[in-house]
Amino acid sequence: MTGPTRLGRAAGTVLGSAAGDALGAPYEFGPAGQLSARGEEMCGGGGWDPGEATDDTQMAVLVAESLLEHGGLALPDLFARFQQWVAGEPKDVGLQTEDVLTSGAPWDVAAALHFQVNARAAGNGSLMRAAGSAVYFAAAGRDATMDAARRIAALTHGDRAAWEGTALLHELVRVALDGSDPLAALPAALDAVHPDHRERYGRVLAPDWHPGLATEFNGAVWPCLGSAVWALRTTTGFAQAVRAAVDLGGDTDTVAAVTGALAGARYGQDAIPGHWTARLHVPLPGSGGRVLYADDLRALAHRLAAAGSR
Ligand SMILES: [Mg+2]
Repeated sequence: MTGPTRLGRAAGTVLGSAAGDALGAPYEFGPAGQLSARGEEMCGGGGWDPGEATDDTQMAVLVAESLLEHGGLALPDLFARFQQWVAGEPKDVGLQTEDVLTSGAPWDVAAALHFQVNARAAGNGSLMRAAGSAVYFAAAGRDATMDAARRIAALTHGDRAAWEGTALLHELVRVALDGSDPLAALPAALDAVHPDHRERYGRVLAPDWHPGLATEFNGAVWPCLGSAVWALRTTTGFAQAVRAAVDLGGDTDTVAAVTGALAGARYGQDAIPGHWTARLHVPLPGSGGRVLYADDLRALAHRLAAAGSR
């Protein structure tokens, strides 16, 4: 038996993250075990239609489209796309992300100014939107993909902890797209994390860490990434990993979106249940009513993989 192709893994990353987001959306801020207790999947709730993806995937698509249209990072353009999106009144947007995007400050200082005033800015809001950029930058190698992740994260998050977590996710996806084991790559990935943040990430990514040991709500970047890696480590397939992430409760859509990116890169798009992708859709507020479906996300992933390796 052969494993998934590189393109199948790239599509798995983008589609898997979107599917995780939509699967988890109805249970956001709820207790643990809600998905299993309900006994049906992708059926909506909590203000979300069945299969509707949230801000996590919407922002990931904005990142992906900016990269493709500009042939690489165009940070002022991406910030403007984020602002147009938030002006379109998405159903959900992270508090910090909304504050930064609507502050009126220029793209290159808005997040830093917010961090100066609020001090706490290590939410998972940059981690959640990384699937497309992780596919795009993978071919450029470890340092380039981690650097790009940090710069995209810094558009909305002034806290370096958020940058480093997003950089780690980019690197783990890169390794998985190569067909290697992202868990085996953790020590090397941690070596590339800024020294001020290495120990704390080392703790939540250690083999004996589990979500019960989290010291913050999983809306923070450390337990969110730690929980996604835990879900990947303690399961043996895509759907099982993403279900485990949703059943943790809390910030279910985002923990599952991050898990879905990792598990999709590892297992490939064919591992994503058909009844998840059938209803999956991504409305794009601020776009004049565009909606992306599973086939659009697949095509987007293929374009990202092709353009990034050029
Ligand atoms: Mg969300």
